[in-house]
Amino acid sequence: MSRLGAEVVIATRNAGKVKEFAPIFEAKGMAVKSLLDVAGIPDIAEDGATFAENALIKASFTARYLGVPVVADDSGLCVDRLGGAPGVYSARYAGEGAGDEANNRKLLAELAAAGGSPPAAPHGLAGGIQPLSTARFVCSIALVDASGELAAQSEGVCEGWILSAPRGAGGFGYDPLFYVPELGRTMAELTVAEKNRISHRGKAIEQLWKLI
Ligand code: IMP
Repeated sequence: MSRLGAEVVIATRNAGKVKEFAPIFEAKGMAVKSLLDVAGIPDIAEDGATFAENALIKASFTARYLGVPVVADDSGLCVDRLGGAPGVYSARYAGEGAGDEANNRKLLAELAAAGGSPPAAPHGLAGGIQPLSTARFVCSIALVDASGELAAQSEGVCEGWILSAPRGAGGFGYDPLFYVPELGRTMAELTVAEKNRISHRGKAIEQLWKLI
């Protein structure tokens, strides 16, 4: 990877994201560090209006702080029956500091009150679980140089449905509620390698390699 050296810093404290990023960069021969390994970096205000703006904010701030090139992603879930919510507010949908469980509960509560029609499930789902809405995960990745200037930016999207009840124990965030119709499984029922092949994050990284 031409604009990164032997080590890449990913500007995230999200262990779920690190678990997905690490094997991809390691397969290219790079060591991976995240903000979980670097002490003392202040919290970064993610106040951009888009995933792309927030990815750049996180990457630039971290690169200027550390003086090394940095990769950052900003990602989230856009649900059609909720007009695209939670979008850039995905991490704090149920309030500042809310955890994954609270965010998932809030998502189901909002969908219970929403108008519009759920998608038809042609083959049905086991256990009386219903699809509630079409949705997509979106991921924007920014690569900045050591002075914090943007070197490349990419985006990946993964289409699916939100289910009425969680399935699976893998992944993080909204994964147990996000069903991928082509695979007949939720994101939380995939291995890291399977998820990286189809996910918004995997696709955004694939795109990034082509740009650098
Ligand atoms: P960020 O760290 O500000 O980019 O917040 C991303 C939030 O979006 C996470 O906290 C999750 O709630 C959600 N999210 C993003 N990517 C994924 C994913 O791959 N699976 C499940 N939830 C995700």
